[in-house]
Amino acid sequence: MEEQRRLFGTNGIRGVVNKDMTAKFALEIGQSIGTIFNNGRILLGRDGRSSGMFLSSAVASGLMAAGCSVYDVNMIPTPGLQYVTKTWRFDGGVVITASHNPPEYNGIKVMDADGIEISSEKEIKIEETYYERRWNIAEWESIGKMNVKTGAIQDYKDAIKRHVDQEKIEKAKLKVVIDPANSVGALVSPSLLSELGCKVYTVNANIDGSFPGRNPEPRLENLDALCEAVRASRSNLGIAYDGDADRAIFVDEAGHPHWGDKSFGIVEKFFLHENPGEKVVTPVSSSQMIEEIAERYDGEVVWTKVGSTIVSRKMLEVSAKLGGEENGGIFYGPHLAVRDGAMTSALIVEIVAKTRKKFSRLVKELPTYYIHKDKVTCPNQVKQKVLERLLEETREHRVETVDGVKIWFPDKSWILIRPSGTEPIYRLYSEAKTRSKTMNLISKYKSTLKQLVKNTL
Ligand code: MG
Repeated sequence: MEEQRRLFGTNGIRGVVNKDMTAKFALEIGQSIGTIFNNGRILLGRDGRSSGMFLSSAVASGLMAAGCSVYDVNMIPTPGLQYVTKTWRFDGGVVITASHNPPEYNGIKVMDADGIEISSEKEIKIEETYYERRWNIAEWESIGKMNVKTGAIQDYKDAIKRHVDQEKIEKAKLKVVIDPANSVGALVSPSLLSELGCKVYTVNANIDGSFPGRNPEPRLENLDALCEAVRASRSNLGIAYDGDADRAIFVDEAGHPHWGDKSFGIVEKFFLHENPGEKVVTPVSSSQMIEEIAERYDGEVVWTKVGSTIVSRKMLEVSAKLGGEENGGIFYGPHLAVRDGAMTSALIVEIVAKTRKKFSRLVKELPTYYIHKDKVTCPNQVKQKVLERLLEETREHRVETVDGVKIWFPDKSWILIRPSGTEPIYRLYSEAKTRSKTMNLISKYKSTLKQLVKNTL
């Protein structure tokens, strides 16, 4: 009897190829997904991983066995598949990707007809179908068909171009270096930016599922080759993507990389400047800078739990046009309320072109905060109790409890203490105008939390 653990994490199912992600598993998950999509038409795509074809064939087979028709678009960034799933009016979409994980991993992301990853209710239905082996087994004459679908990337690029001022970008004659981590970002962004009138250089732009150039997670310390190429080519900007190109990280004209909270702040500032009064959706772990910009430019921040799908769904619920995460995920609603590396790149290029400012200057003009993260061990079974006790102790402060507890102090510094969804730990995030204040908050609440865990056990 298989243990009925959750299969879907924050962004789909992930695992090591041929250990967790076997052909049999992919086939049966495909058949379970196909059962929930009930004879629907499903778009299928994948990132550049070596195991992509192997897993996508198995998932396709399972979908067809359940009676769904499969339309294969081949390699594509996740947000590209999301865009065409919605605009081509498919019933759903599946992307074979493990996003930023190392090469031995792969995964399965499932999209609904609106292009956003399926809700957790639907994920649980798929898991139940899988564990109880209650999947559809179509009669021979109603087994789904396999189709090849072309034109997805072109439609996706054309849509992005319509959201930015092409004339202004072309006039600015920007030079940009792109680093797609040897994955699917290479299929979209170099030609997109060059069609927008930029002079484009690339590093790590040949698709190679072993990721020979760098780790597919665009962390600042992984971007040396890109930073060097920006300096050597005297470019205005460098852009790095993760493995499925839904996140983008930017390097300034001096070759310094900046974390995603900065690019989000820049996009937010210009978006609110042009669209005052709009809402901006972001998880509670995001920088206070986002709220300060919103106050200054007459916007409103809507805080959510951590998770990109939660941000997407909240944007639709409150009719917000902009969302963002500190990890480089920016959601531009007029295109599609999902995080999208190519759309983000076009927006940043447009801002640099319109303002005629260097990227480093745009970063410098943002409000400054210092952020620090830490963790405290806490067994899963006492997490809830610890949280309740913590809340009792914080009654005199302004708090937000959408995900763990976020406590604001009068000087705008804050600390967020949230239970991890996957590990037996509490995560602590703190932010303040000075580094010492940030560190003090962390050490104070770390000891409070340790004491609470000890007393609760
Ligand atoms: Mg990703």
